[in-house]
Amino acid sequence: MDPELSEIFMNRISLVIIFFSCIGISIVTGDTDQQNVILISWDGISRDTLEYLIDSGNLEHLSGILENGSFVNISITDHFPDTLSGHAQILTGYSPEISGVFKSMRYKEIPEGYTVFERLKEFAGDDGISTVIIASQERSLGPLKGLPFYHAGKVVDYYYDQNSDAGLLGTVVSEALYHFAQKGRFFMFVHFRDAADAGYAFGAGTKKQEDSIQSIDASLGEILKTIQKAGIMEKTAIYITTDHGFNTGQKDYTGQANLWLVANEPGLNMNGDQKDIALTILKKFQVPYENITPHYPGEPLI
Ligand SMILES: [Zn+2]
Repeated sequence: MDPELSEIFMNRISLVIIFFSCIGISIVTGDTDQQNVILISWDGISRDTLEYLIDSGNLEHLSGILENGSFVNISITDHFPDTLSGHAQILTGYSPEISGVFKSMRYKEIPEGYTVFERLKEFAGDDGISTVIIASQERSLGPLKGLPFYHAGKVVDYYYDQNSDAGLLGTVVSEALYHFAQKGRFFMFVHFRDAADAGYAFGAGTKKQEDSIQSIDASLGEILKTIQKAGIMEKTAIYITTDHGFNTGQKDYTGQANLWLVANEPGLNMNGDQKDIALTILKKFQVPYENITPHYPGEPLI
């Protein structure tokens, strides 16, 4: 790593550690039945690319989850497959007509209260659940006024939105996990940008994109180790998915809507829609989503 990058890296690590040190030691709730969910987005990985890497034995940690978990074929059926519209759907359960997020170049603030983070806070109360966003992309997935997740940014307990590679992000997520695991139940969203960056630069299915996906898998290994050490593996649902795919051999990702979701629990539906992911999370936390308006067009995967 060149010295300048190394300095930026160390500064960010320091900031993250200072942030969690300043929050201080929290009171343990002692609720043994608590359920946590960590939802991880591996940006820009088509189903065929992922399946090839799993089948060829290149994704040790994701494959480990699959041994006692589920693989769901996820489809995008009602919006342009790109980063902002994908994440808006994953984190609201709504179509663009309701979320206001049509494409990465055509979006509004998601209406107040519509994201999963806000639904969970509304249902459980501010102290009843911690919500966290750890995104590796500045601006687009950040909490600034005018961006889709502006209102979510007002309710989450921790929001990280720095340009970060998989290694740095794994460290940030581990720090956050140690902190929030002792506070009670939590919902954490994590976004890895590396595979999309490599897809745009070199094309889908290239060696460089495969290498980047392996670096994300290595980071997943760190995250799993932290969950284990924090003693919350048994009560933490882990969902890993993607926002959109790339057409193999091209830099143009338009039209790749065949996606996937991997879960660390068996028995999920074999097929689903990207709209179903938000509902799966709400159901996991026992939110009575049937009564929420606007009504959800999808259905839970569990
Ligand atoms: Zn993306």
